[in-house]
Amino acid sequence: MDLTGKTAIVTGGSRGIGRAICLELARRGANVAFSYAGNAAAAQETVELVEQTGATARAVQGDVTCADAAKELVDAAKELGGVDILVNNAGITRDKLAARMSEEDFDAVIATNLKGAFLMTKAVLRPMMRAKSGAIVNMASVVGIMGNAGQANYAASKAGLIGMTKSIAREVASIGIRVNAVAPGYIETDMTAAMPEAAQQAMCSAIPAARAGKPEDVAHAVAFLVSDEAAYITGQVLAVDGGMAM
Ligand code: NDP
Repeated sequence: MDLTGKTAIVTGGSRGIGRAICLELARRGANVAFSYAGNAAAAQETVELVEQTGATARAVQGDVTCADAAKELVDAAKELGGVDILVNNAGITRDKLAARMSEEDFDAVIATNLKGAFLMTKAVLRPMMRAKSGAIVNMASVVGIMGNAGQANYAASKAGLIGMTKSIAREVASIGIRVNAVAPGYIETDMTAAMPEAAQQAMCSAIPAARAGKPEDVAHAVAFLVSDEAAYITGQVLAVDGGMAM
């Protein structure tokens, strides 16, 4: 899974799964341009960790819901060499039972998790089409497959991502661009640490592998899907969940 000479874009690379993906792709030889929402100190730390691998990193502050931010990230990747890989990783939760969920909480999650990935994909498709190659991975979730009480907005965004993955995969497969999704289960990050203790325990007890996942578990799957070893794989959803969604 050698990515030498490739340039990757990762949204939400400052922390958690996104940071692990930046590092894993860099270890395999890719330069990385990544975005973050506002945590500049964490973004700087990711830059330093990536550069310790010998790769080059650029951090771009920007909201994935904004088309101009997508363009800025693509420009940063072009400065590093091109646009070979896109990982739509940035995501948020605003959990509440549907009866109590505000319209604003619904819209915010759909805008970041689903529309953000659409805008970013739209921004990379032209350069990828010109190059007649490219690999895109969308960060879905087991919740998009199984549903989860308290996460109607989040589950809808992740199920939407799966539908979008398959649709765009069909549109661009014949021109050498692959689009896949990864569906993580319960992964130890700031996002899951913010869940109520009881919800964390309920999720952990549903994992056949009897352990929570680590950001690196997801990053390894992403590295495979964007590599040439996955050249004949497109439109797929790879669960990285210790068996949770079998
Ligand atoms: P974290 O909350 O730990 O990190 C989120 C990252 O996304 C941060 O880098 C954050 O930037 C960035 N971000 C958030 N909103 C925006 C925005 N509007 N524009 C740009 N960047 C943004 O999340 P995780 O690492 O846990 O999750 C990463 C992805 O994996 C998400 O899509 C999530 O839904 C998915 N996932 C996670 C699971 C888990 O168990 N953790 C399970 C299944 C899926 P900043 O640091 O500046 O705030």
